[in-house]
Amino acid sequence: MISVPLNSMNVTIESKARPCPGVERAITMAEDALRHGSKVFSIGEMIHNRREIDRLKKLGLYEITAEKLTDPQMKSDFEEASLLIRAHGEPQHVIDLARSAGLKIINATCPIVTHSQTVVDQHVEDGWGIFIVGKPDHPEVIGLMDRTRGNGMVISSLTEAKNADLEERTLLLAQSTANPDLFHDICKLLSSRISGLKIMDTTCRFIRTRQKDIQGFVENKDIVLVIGGKKSSNCRLLYEKARILNEQTYRLRGPDDIDWTWFKDGERVGVTGGASTPKWQLEEIRSSLENHKIKKNPKGLKNSKGGKFLWWMRKNPK
Ligand code: SF4
Repeated sequence: MISVPLNSMNVTIESKARPCPGVERAITMAEDALRHGSKVFSIGEMIHNRREIDRLKKLGLYEITAEKLTDPQMKSDFEEASLLIRAHGEPQHVIDLARSAGLKIINATCPIVTHSQTVVDQHVEDGWGIFIVGKPDHPEVIGLMDRTRGNGMVISSLTEAKNADLEERTLLLAQSTANPDLFHDICKLLSSRISGLKIMDTTCRFIRTRQKDIQGFVENKDIVLVIGGKKSSNCRLLYEKARILNEQTYRLRGPDDIDWTWFKDGERVGVTGGASTPKWQLEEIRSSLENHKIKKNPKGLKNSKGGKFLWWMRKNPK
């Protein structure tokens, strides 16, 4: 059986695509601790990129649930071990439980998230209500809500903002990776409903800038591939932005998600990634695209003019 390459596919990785500083820092802190032989645990997914976590697990990272912190059977596992606090933070009671269990704390909470946590603490102390624009199940939002001591609410849509019960003194802030456009619209709507609303735009500048970068990148591309974890909010946002400008935009976790029927010879393919996507995953996609072979018609089928059935070759990749 003969294989031929998809000829002259022109693959470009977006030069500005890289993990955000908070994720980069958390990965470096995990690698440093693991390199020094420490046993390192994280609560759930350290970042929203399963394949990068699997790489760190091979170096010795262990994922546990918060419940395990109070499991007596884990006592010996926690000796001389550390808990890495992910970039988007953990609720304070989880950190306290980890300390009580004897774990050392490696605090990889992104400084931007730490700032939001401090702001929430101060305002709750002063009796303010807290509204957080974001997803209720996002680790950063769970951590912030924990600090509101029952006086907070998560808003994930304009409808929820319209129906929210408002206190006179309310602080409105955002999950760092929330959609900046949604945050802006919710600010506008709530400002018209309450005079004592205080707004702090805690959406991350890195995420906002990436939203703009991608618009320039998708121009002149026939196909755009956005690489990242399924649960990554910012990756979904990038994908949605790109798709508005280019319908031929696809979201992938890795090479196994590539559908070869998307491509034609000679196309310009743009590869980019979210804030939790390491560069090796972008390079891996480029390599898969550049080295892909399609089967040459093994039956020697010919069309009515004696040409080869190219459609058959496309439908039977590898
Ligand atoms: S997205 Fe921004 S706020 Fe969130 S971890 Fe990354 S750099 Fe920090």
